[in-house]
Amino acid sequence: MSTPLPPADFPPDETFWTATAEGRLLLPRCESCATVIWYPRPFCPRCGGRDVTWFPASGEATVYSYTVVRKARGEYRDLTPYVVAYVELAEGPRILTNIVGCDPSEVIIGQPVTLVFDAPKEGAAARLYRFRPLPAHDDANP
Ligand SMILES: [Zn+2]
Repeated sequence: MSTPLPPADFPPDETFWTATAEGRLLLPRCESCATVIWYPRPFCPRCGGRDVTWFPASGEATVYSYTVVRKARGEYRDLTPYVVAYVELAEGPRILTNIVGCDPSEVIIGQPVTLVFDAPKEGAAARLYRFRPLPAHDDANP
């Protein structure tokens, strides 16, 4: 799914976006109370702590909620239908993203999904993160 990238100065900061360019999704964690913070910010919304460090997300998540966009404008028009979703990361936060790599009619709330990145764009300092469904569990061949 190729969409416009955020502007170079888009929050949270260069650390976050540079990691996406390398195919990594970093999450901020409060070193005082261990809260995983989303949306990323330089302080903890739970305890007010300012000792925040980055760690790599596992990439495991489940679909928390979603909608299928069937009409869009501008650069998004040719991408329809596409799925806008909140996924709940294994680390806790629910993040806004897209579900890709499947027919939109196949998306189900509670479905396990995994992190994927858009192909790099020439000269871009960031890549956008999406999630795709994991293959269905096959009870006959665990
Ligand atoms: Zn905290």
